[in-house]
Amino acid sequence: MYAYSKKTEKEVKQLAKGKLVLRADRCKGCELCVSVCPKKILKLDDVNVNRKGYHPVTVINEDECIACASCAMMCPDGIINVYKVD
Ligand code: SF4
Ligand code: SF4
Repeated sequence: MYAYSKKTEKEVKQLAKGKLVLRADRCKGCELCVSVCPKKILKLDDVNVNRKGYHPVTVINEDECIACASCAMMCPDGIINVYKVD
């Protein structure tokens, strides 16, 4: 026997965390993903430039990602993958 409590939908949403995999070498710095992130945790890298000559997108606080995948859906080049983590 073990204690079991079913989480409400709201609690599950609060617990959802995301992990991003970015192919930054292919980013063209259009900032479409930045504009749609509800947590405002995406920005262009001010310092580094990728091989295409663009400042690529970077995550400034991945712990706040809620795995909504809006950034991945918005990216015209499909370079963002979002994974849900526990
Ligand atoms: S998955 Fe959602 S919260 Fe996470 S970085 Fe992308 S847009 Fe932002
Ligand atoms: S939408 Fe895609 S190409 Fe544009 S900045 Fe974001 S990751 Fe880079």
